[in-house]
Amino acid sequence: MTTCRECSRQWRSYVEAHCGGCHQHFTGVSSFDLHLRGGSCLLPADVGLVVASRSDGNVWAWPGERDAAVFGSGTRRDDME
Ligand SMILES: [Zn+2]
Ligand SMILES: [Zn+2]
Repeated sequence: MTTCRECSRQWRSYVEAHCGGCHQHFTGVSSFDLHLRGGSCLLPADVGLVVASRSDGNVWAWPGERDAAVFGSGTRRDDME
């Protein structure tokens, strides 16, 4: 279990990404990168990400990733490629 010391968000997945700037939580590096533009944070919803519910809380996911995110609960190791 990983905990953000600033916002207390906790997560277990190795592939999820937590932003230390805006403290939004993402399904992975690819969706995390999408909300970073020119070194600053954009609202995830503004770059086309959608909220997916996981056991540890809500995360921002790619639109097509929403169902897989719920199903996999962040434990799928094939996300690490
Ligand atoms: Zn951010
Ligand atoms: Zn945080």
